[in-house]
Amino acid sequence: AKENGRNRFVFYEKKMNEEAVQKMTIKNYLVNALKNNEFVLHYQPQYSIEEENEITGFEALIRWNSPELGFVSPVEFISVAEENYMIIPIGIWVLKEACNFIKKYNAYMEKEHIISVNISILQLLQDDFVDMLGDVLEEVNLKPSLLEIEITETMLIKSFDTIVVKLEQIKEKGIHIALDDFGKGYSSLSYLRQLPITTLKIDKSFIDNIEIMDDVDNLTESIIYLAKKMGLNTVAEGVETEKQLEYLKRNQCHKIQGYLFSKPLKEEDVYKVSGKLK
Ligand code: C2E
Ligand code: CA
Ligand code: CA
Ligand code: CA
Repeated sequence: AKENGRNRFVFYEKKMNEEAVQKMTIKNYLVNALKNNEFVLHYQPQYSIEEENEITGFEALIRWNSPELGFVSPVEFISVAEENYMIIPIGIWVLKEACNFIKKYNAYMEKEHIISVNISILQLLQDDFVDMLGDVLEEVNLKPSLLEIEITETMLIKSFDTIVVKLEQIKEKGIHIALDDFGKGYSSLSYLRQLPITTLKIDKSFIDNIEIMDDVDNLTESIIYLAKKMGLNTVAEGVETEKQLEYLKRNQCHKIQGYLFSKPLKEEDVYKVSGKLK
């Protein structure tokens, strides 16, 4: 038994080392990734449920194709980028790139669509974050109402009051604010009432449950109902099946996003699904 314990210890130690090495490797190559143009954005369409499944906008999702490491998932490298604050310049690049994309796309389509951009807590905590948002909108000449920022609940645990003040300033500018992954973490309904958000993105785990649960047991319906009562828009994320779509229609969720309609797309492919060929 003693020997077993020792082996287990060695095993954990080895696993921890591997993870640490992996992180270090990512960090090393991440340092030059921005300057070497290794990032691109993909865009996943969001569709209106009421208006005949019309595209209302896109979520911008970062992709890193490293010459040394190959494709690295944002799930892996965003946390590393946060550790050494590289997320700050990367985040500014994402915002500019995404705003330029939607500006061009809207001009081409002759119709207004919204771009949603994921924001890290570290960005939000920067003193000049609100000014930076304003500067980018001005530079790109994009209406504030065509930008939505996505934040997560886990961000709010820290510095709640400071963040609420900032979000109020952002909302005042006319920028939309979505609470991402709603229901995933330590969701607190009392939080929600204090937050100046405009949209609730229902986490994929709830959408997955639609597939496997009886309607009566599923909380998604209540979330949509509650959000409506609070004057918030609802977006269902990770919609993959017709059954989920039917449920969301029946319960009047506003928008849907997921593989059932479209995966995140390269910029050139966006124009193809939009029915207009470029
Ligand atoms: P998220 O913001 O929750 O983004 C949704 C994730 O679900 C994306 O993964 C998207 O590709 C994936 N997805 C969309 N529809 C479906 C579906 O129907 N089924 C399944 N299985 N997955 C679906 P992705 O692109 O790998 O991004 C992962 C996470 O990385 C994001 O989660 C977000 O937290 C972070 N991230 C991505 N881009 C950025 C960025 O530009 N800045 C920051 N700060 N974080 C980002
Ligand atoms: Ca998101
Ligand atoms: Ca999400
Ligand atoms: Ca997520």
